[in-house]
Amino acid sequence: MSPYEKLLLQNKSWVKDRLDLDPDYFKKLAKIQNPDFLWIGCSDSRVPANQITGTEPGEVFVHRNIANVVVLTDLNMLSVLSYAVEQLKVKHVVVCGHYGCGGVKAAISRGDFGLLNKWLTNIKDVYRLHADEINKIEDEQQKEDRLIELNVIEQVRNLKKTNIIQKAWKKDQLPTLHGWVYGLKDGILKDLCKILPGDDIDPIFSFKDV
Ligand SMILES: [Zn+2]
Repeated sequence: MSPYEKLLLQNKSWVKDRLDLDPDYFKKLAKIQNPDFLWIGCSDSRVPANQITGTEPGEVFVHRNIANVVVLTDLNMLSVLSYAVEQLKVKHVVVCGHYGCGGVKAAISRGDFGLLNKWLTNIKDVYRLHADEINKIEDEQQKEDRLIELNVIEQVRNLKKTNIIQKAWKKDQLPTLHGWVYGLKDGILKDLCKILPGDDIDPIFSFKDV
């Protein structure tokens, strides 16, 4: 059996398990999508949003990219954010990074990764912004870990720069923004930062008429 055929077979057994528990499982799920959470995570295969948070299909709206970056010219991310916030009215947006992130490792390696270089520049910018703090750390592993944490915090801050979040904060007092980091070695999610609706926005990023 080819590996991909195994996935299709596993799907059949998953469907059976679900229907055994609740014969209307898919009927209910197909009718409505009403998640409370938008997850912006890394594409890394070891950090699947649903499994690590113990949530079911229908509970988390998900966007993933390399190194969980909130790039304000990324139409894909902005479309997901817009839909999640304005239509689904999610209550929480979580940016989740993870220790051992290949994207962050690649950025600090200074290697030439072709097309990926442009994407990794976003992480290098976080390094530049926090160079004083990061350069004081002597241990290379701790340096990488701290950059991973700071990257999450900066991406949460980037969310505040969008008119999507600013409008929703004014109109609905939603969503709360969160920054988390996941440990590949222990499976633990660590809470790094939380920003409540109405939090201060740097004036230059705050839209006058929002
Ligand atoms: Zn990663």
